[in-house]
Amino acid sequence: MDDCGALIVGAGPAGSSCAWQLQRAGLDTVILDKRTFPRDKVCGGWITPAVLEELRIDPAEYGTGRVLQPLTGFRTSRMGGREVYTDYGKPVSYGVRRCEFDEYLLRRSGASIFEGTPLDSLERLGEHWIVNGRWKTRLVIGAGGHFCPVARFLGADGRKEVAVAAQEIEFEMSPAQRETCAIRGEVPELYFCPDMKGYGWCFRKGNFLNVGLGRLDPRGLPGHVSQFVKFLKAAGKLAFDLPASLPGHAYLLYEGAGRKAVDDGILLIGDAAGVAYPQSGEGIRPAIESGLLAAQAVLVAGGDYSHKKLSVYREQLSARLGKPGWDWSTAIGRRIPAGWMAGAARILLATGWFSRRIVLDRWFLHRHQGALQLA
Ligand SMILES: Cc1cc2nc3c(=O)[nH]c(=O)nc-3n(C[C@H](O)[C@H](O)[C@H](O)COP(=O)(O)OP(=O)(O)OC[C@H]3O[C@@H](n4cnc5c(N)ncnc54)[C@H](O)[C@@H]3O)c2cc1C
Repeated sequence: MDDCGALIVGAGPAGSSCAWQLQRAGLDTVILDKRTFPRDKVCGGWITPAVLEELRIDPAEYGTGRVLQPLTGFRTSRMGGREVYTDYGKPVSYGVRRCEFDEYLLRRSGASIFEGTPLDSLERLGEHWIVNGRWKTRLVIGAGGHFCPVARFLGADGRKEVAVAAQEIEFEMSPAQRETCAIRGEVPELYFCPDMKGYGWCFRKGNFLNVGLGRLDPRGLPGHVSQFVKFLKAAGKLAFDLPASLPGHAYLLYEGAGRKAVDDGILLIGDAAGVAYPQSGEGIRPAIESGLLAAQAVLVAGGDYSHKKLSVYREQLSARLGKPGWDWSTAIGRRIPAGWMAGAARILLATGWFSRRIVLDRWFLHRHQGALQLA
């Protein structure tokens, strides 16, 4: 049996960030993933600058040999409605490829990495966990995404949860496709569904194109996606066919997440805990922040991994992400009857002020909240 200070299940941004922070503080950490890296992840790959700051990533270093597309503006609209162009004049976000980004975070974490290693078994033995019959540890951290087996162990039941569902494809364009592609790298395009229950995007990162659509209401998602692709073609945004159908994935938004994230000797982070921002669905930054906060709670606990001692993580997560479901702009949105929403969206999304101040600054860029500051 191999002993370790902490064992993390899942090597996405949440798990690797948590491992990085624990290793830096001297706690020997094992990280397992069922996949072998580099691996693809269904995702738009849009990150806000806070992510780089929190993880102390130098954009110039990261961007050497990898895709790091600076985003300086956005085109937003209600699907088929008037487009609003918002220019920030400097990078306010970046586009990454998840196959590159996740591998980079994992390799630099300093943890002992076990790829192609799913969690097979988790047993409690006194104060310890026995993982896969191979590792003995006093702390297990579940970072396995929405379907994380550690979350299931803590009672998460996907059948009772209301998750966001999204489909996306990313592919390298041929030289001919690059010529005809109407999307500019530094200006991604967002198209809101008329009922405001979701949005589609067209996002160019260097030679790669990422197209997708996500909805709060997963019913009929494939139909919404095919309508969206038809709309892109009719609007002249896509001059060629997509190379394949769009794979999908589900995950929880923070406002709907009621998962238990802490117990004796066990924590959940990232999508496993359900921390994505409710308005935009951005999940990478809150996944990373939850990983860093969890690591901090572990280090402060000083070896006492009781539920009581680790609960500080839950409190810090709430302090950071707010009370689930509370945001003034979303609260106002909820009070508008569904029938009025289409009309309100048509008017508001066509105005420059609303698009910049509410949709982009607040919902998508989270400019009101600075990067997480940890020691
Ligand atoms: C279509 C779509 C588009 C999105 N676009 C964006 C975007 O542009 N920007 C953004 O910020 N967010 C976006 N998100 C959300 C974002 O992808 C997630 O919130 C983010 O990946 C969460 O990170 P994580 O580390 O918690 O989980 P994940 O990235 O899902 O990583 C979990 C890891 O756990 C591993 N794992 C799972 N089960 C096991 C097991 N049994 N044993 C061992 N390992 C296991 C998996 O292989 C995986 O590597 C999007 C999501 C979707 C579906």
